[in-house]
Amino acid sequence: MDCLFCKIISGDIPAKVIFQDDLVVAFDDINPQAPQHKLIVPRKHIATLNDLQEEDNNLIGYMAQTAKQLAKNLNIAEDGYRIVMNCNAGAGQTVFHIHMHLLGGRHMTWPPG
Ligand code: 5GP
Ligand code: ZN
Repeated sequence: MDCLFCKIISGDIPAKVIFQDDLVVAFDDINPQAPQHKLIVPRKHIATLNDLQEEDNNLIGYMAQTAKQLAKNLNIAEDGYRIVMNCNAGAGQTVFHIHMHLLGGRHMTWPPG
């Protein structure tokens, strides 16, 4: 499958991996939008949030738990951080394999752009 994140997960394309287990891989975003910008990606290829099945509920929960733990490890948990999932082009999704952005290390404004 011609999917960038599947290739990062398989190791065909290098990335700065900070955590991985049998369900998820987390790595530095190549174009960081904050001092800390990580991507948490499930090993399972799911193109967009619109493709989520009920059977994926635990996986999404696990991604959030991973983000929580990584935020703690990165020392951004107390100050605050943001989790973002973009769905489809209109929301800015450019890689069609779902992922959570974990952003922190600076003050965040609202609403997002
Ligand atoms: P999206 O726009 O789909 O929500 O997020 C995709 C993210 O993947 C972007 O923040 C972009 O910087 C990041 N990205 C794109 N190509 C690569 C790559 O080759 N390596 C890494 N580590 N991140 C990438
Ligand atoms: Zn994929």
